[in-house]
Amino acid sequence: MIEERRHDDVLELRGSSRVSRAMGFAVHAYLVRGVLVDTLFPALGGDVAAWLAARRPAGALLTHHHEDHAGNISVLASRGLPAGMASTTLARVRRPAPVGYYRRLCWGVPAALAADPAPFAADGLELIPAPGHSTDHHVVWDRETGTVFGGDLFLGVKVRIAHPGEDVRGQPAVLRRIAALGPVRFFDAHRGLVPDPVAALRAKADWIEEIADRIARRAADGWAASAITRDVLGRGDLTGLVSRGDYAKRNLVDALLATRVAPTNGPGGQ
Ligand SMILES: [Zn+2]
Repeated sequence: MIEERRHDDVLELRGSSRVSRAMGFAVHAYLVRGVLVDTLFPALGGDVAAWLAARRPAGALLTHHHEDHAGNISVLASRGLPAGMASTTLARVRRPAPVGYYRRLCWGVPAALAADPAPFAADGLELIPAPGHSTDHHVVWDRETGTVFGGDLFLGVKVRIAHPGEDVRGQPAVLRRIAALGPVRFFDAHRGLVPDPVAALRAKADWIEEIADRIARRAADGWAASAITRDVLGRGDLTGLVSRGDYAKRNLVDALLATRVAPTNGPGGQ
């Protein structure tokens, strides 16, 4: 189902299904300046088609290729709607790669594109690269209103889980770059409207730098990655178990260990 909520000039679309709600997940798309930012997930294809017929957006922008954001791009394209996205996003949504079973269960399986959507540049909205969560990740920036549509850039300050291959090390610089835009509003794809966004983005950057330093110290002291994970991120990892390690605490630690630098003022060590 799609639940709408208005925030002045922005219409929030909260998409969830019985299954996604049972798993504790929902995702948001947004309508701004007549443009849809992200397309919700494939299991909502029928709801999205009905919504498009009712609201008639001029086109869509995609933050990144993950199926809970780009999952209905084929529905838009089949209706002749144009869509703006990075070339790296387009390459991945043309023929979506298989994903783990918990993602298929939660979100459904995106269809391949029969044909590329027509390119789309939305008046007053910019796609700004903000990689880390995925290499093709972008945010949408409405300069005139100081609004960021952040996709999965933020998600929360102390996020303790990651997908394999996320560029966690690079995220603080990206978070600070988007904070430096000085947004007065930030719409997150999972959290909705984030209060005090500049402080929130900086707090997340600080948190990642802090745990990176703690992880480097433990590693320099010869700790195993499993022990570092328990110590720095806490015991237990239900999401990691359910996703069979696809969205897990250990991925966050591994990403920071793989790009490790010496801890600050620490005993040295590699
Ligand atoms: Zn994502």
